[in-house]
Formats: sequence, structure tokens, C-alpha cells
Amino acid sequence: MARAVAASKAQKRLIIVSNRLPVSLVRENGKLEMRPSSGGLVTALGPVLKGRGGVWVGWPGLHDADVTEVTAALDVKQSGYTLVPVMLSREDEERFYFGFSNRIVWPLFHEIPFLYDYDPDFWEAYLSANRRFAEVVAALAGEDDYIWVHDYHLMNLGQALRKLGVTASIGFFLHTPFPAPDIFKKLPWRKQVLEALLEYDLLGFQTLRHRRNFLQGVRRLLPEKEVRGRGTMNLIEHDGREVRVGSFPISIDYESFAGQASSPEVTDLALQYRQSLSERCIVLGIDRLDYTKGIPYKLRAFGLALSHHPDLRRRITFVQVVVPSRESIPQYHELKMTIERLVGEINGAYTEPGWVPVHYLFRSLKRAELLAMYRAADVALITPVEDGMNLVAKEYCACDIDATGTLILSEFAGAAAQLQRGALLVNPCDLKQMEEAIYAAYTMEVVEKRARMRRLQRTIREQDVYWWVDSFLRAGADADLGQYPTLEDVAIGHEDDLWSGEG
Ligand code: UDP
Repeated sequence: MARAVAASKAQKRLIIVSNRLPVSLVRENGKLEMRPSSGGLVTALGPVLKGRGGVWVGWPGLHDADVTEVTAALDVKQSGYTLVPVMLSREDEERFYFGFSNRIVWPLFHEIPFLYDYDPDFWEAYLSANRRFAEVVAALAGEDDYIWVHDYHLMNLGQALRKLGVTASIGFFLHTPFPAPDIFKKLPWRKQVLEALLEYDLLGFQTLRHRRNFLQGVRRLLPEKEVRGRGTMNLIEHDGREVRVGSFPISIDYESFAGQASSPEVTDLALQYRQSLSERCIVLGIDRLDYTKGIPYKLRAFGLALSHHPDLRRRITFVQVVVPSRESIPQYHELKMTIERLVGEINGAYTEPGWVPVHYLFRSLKRAELLAMYRAADVALITPVEDGMNLVAKEYCACDIDATGTLILSEFAGAAAQLQRGALLVNPCDLKQMEEAIYAAYTMEVVEKRARMRRLQRTIREQDVYWWVDSFLRAGADADLGQYPTLEDVAIGHEDDLWSGEG
């Protein structure tokens, strides 16, 4: 943790803003109770906030409470930093969160070719919610604070803050991909979104590919803007200021995952999983229920592998965990039906006494269960059709204590840019290639597995979540503003993007 806090020169107070707070409030027996969230962002930013003091602003996840009651419930001194709520109504949740954020921005930014519902009311609700967040932040931000805004729900927050006269430095990190200009151009409010993003002082993307997509969008839609620089940082002139644009791949707390995965509790549980599956080769998929995760493709590829390689039958088991998510959106519900039909088809075709090919779990796992699954699995099959980063891929490697697992990874996961040298990369839409990758992982010699996994682990350990926070803050909050950060200053030594030769 000290690593994340140590690097700063003149430390500014941090104000983190995200759609959700790092805790949720629930009402139990009439009283508001706090439930901590886990998640990478909380793990990474919690210690930084504690170290330098700060504030986290976001929605606490409930509607039926007034702000005074919520503020009192969040007033917990031991966290070491202050939690400040933004209250959203049920209608806000419907139109800002499920509507604009998750029915328009989420699929568009993941380049999913839906017929979109570009409802202008959703856009108005998005602007209005962003203004609501801005009012809360503006009321507490001082000139010397650093405001770090997170993710696609809050792209217009910087602009709303500027309109309220906030002069503090503001950074924005997009956790999702940013789409190619030919996709982004369909958004009716495309120019407004780009112009709003240019109100930030620093824009961070997960990979060079997403950063390049953004810059190409700016060049095409706002041709009057001058884009300079290459390599680590680009600069865009906007209203007499220079906006910095960089890529900062998010990561995990490697040591914490590796440490917990080797605990006796997790070791025992992993052993139980292996025994219950009769020491077969375990292929593991862990995904939120989301059409971006490519779950139907991997099920079909697994079915094809069983069909074309009869030697896999009885010797391999695919454990697919699907974590419930956004089921009130019709596409999510339909996806669940598709997954369940495919699981049924494969199991119907291949199950034999004593062997079920696909084990399907539709629920979230306890932490020890998750880590034990990672430890028990011989192969992780992580093949999103598009993903900002994919932390599960990194967590799987961190938990592979024996370093004998194989990572099959989509080339369209942000993580592929850093992990391309150790993973088996696949195009998730290429079922033949996926099927071959499953067979290659099954037949791979242990020497090769180990060499690949050690390489993956080294990269993830060196570029962990503290490195990510440090890189962003050194480019933003702690940058010497008279001098733009160089590659060495920001310490971004991550792998080049897979597609960086293009465009
Ligand atoms: N995860 C979890 N409970 C589960 C399964 C997964 O909390 O039952 C976590 C997992 O450890 C990872 C996160 O969910 O940190 C998923 O992050 P990822 O970047 O892979 O995908 P996202 O869901 O953010 O699109």
C-alpha cells in the first residue's frame, strides 16, 4: 500500500467520484446498514484515500431515504476517508443508469451491433444526473483538490463542474472500451460527449487501442481541435488549456490474491473441487451475465471440441460461473435463456454416467469459493467479444500458485495487450480457433504451461493495481504541470496494443 501513496510530490486531497460508493446501504429493521463492496477499485483506492485523506462521492444504492439519514449512516470514521452520497431516485436509476448508461453507452462502447433505443429522454436524464453529481462535488471541492472521476456513467461530470465554476484539476478514467469512430459516430450526442470529455485535464483509457479510437473520434468529429504528441501522452488544445490523454491499464492487488489463494481454507476447498470432479481437466469461465462476455460462443466452441476430439470426453469438465447482472434489461434476460439452452444441449448430447461436461452456476461466489475455483482450474477460458480490461483473467493468473494453468484469452479483452506473451490468444467469434485453443491447452506440456504462466504472473505482479493508481495520479494529481510527464515519469511500461500497427 505504501507504494501507492509514496510517489506524490505535493499531495493534493483526492476526491473520487463514481456512480456507486464503495459501500451500499440497505434498510434492515428500519435502520440503514452499511455493506462493504469488494471490487478492484475499492481495493486500489481505499488505501490511497486513507493515506492522503480524501472523499469518495457516489450513489449508496438506495432510494427510500433522505440525504440527512444517509449521510449519518455513512459517517464511519474508521474508513479513514469521507463518504458523500449523491441521491438518485427510482426514475433516475431507470433512465440515467439502466437507460442512457446501460442501454446506450455500454453496448455502443463495446461495439455491440444492437438496434439502439436512442431515446432523447435518456440523454436528458444522463445530463441531469451528471449535474446532480456535480452539485455535490462542487459543494465540497477546493481549488487545490484533485477530482478523479470514474467511468461511463459520468462522462459529462467535468463539464458540469466547470459550469459551476470549479477550477480544481479533474481527471477521468474510462473503465470500458472507447469505440472506433465508425461506431461512435452513430451516437446522436457524439459531439456533446467529446466536448464534455475535453473539459477534463487528464483522460485515461485502458489501452492504446481505446485511446487511439478516442483520438480518431476527436480528429473526425472536432477537426478544429489540435491533437499533438504520441507515445505515452497526447495533448489536445481546448479552450486555451491542454488536455492530456493517456492509457493506464487497470489491474488487481496481485499479492493479496496470491496470498489468499495459498491460504489453508482456499487450498482445501480447491482440493475438494478437484476431487469432486474426479481430477478431470477443469476449464473455467467466470463472467458477469453480459453479452460482451461472449459466453454463448465459448459454450459452442466447447461443444465443438467435444464433438471433434472424442478423447476429451470424460476427461474434461467446463465449469461456467455466470454472475447475475442487469436482468431487467431484455437483452440480459434473453442471453440467460440462450446460455441455459446451450448448456442443456451440450449436456444432453454428451453426458454419460459419472460425467457431466458443463457445470453451470448462475450466482455470485463467496471470495473463498472464487479463489478456490481459480486454483482448481487447469484452464481459464476468458473470451469476451469486447472488454475494457477483464480482471478475472489477471485474478486467475495471480491465484495459480503452482503455475500450471493455461489462460485462453480473447484478443479483444483489454488485458490482451499486456498478457499476449503468455496467454493463448483467440478471436472469440472464431469457433474453430477457440476449439483448437481448448485442445491445445488440454494437451500442452507442463514445461510450456509453466513458462507461459510465470511470464503472465510477472507482468501482473509488476503492473498491479497500485502501479495503476500511481501512474494515473502521477500523470494527473501529482504531475508537475509545468512539464508534461514522460514515459519514465509516468512509468507506463505496459505492452504495446495488439492493434497498434493500424491507423
Ligand atoms: N467477481 C465477484 N464475484 C463472483 C465472480 C467474480 O466479485 O462471483 C469479481 C471478480 O473477482 C472480478 C470482477 O467480479 O474482480 C469482474 O471484473 P471483470 O473486469 O472481469 O469484469 P466486469 O464484471 O467488471 O465486466
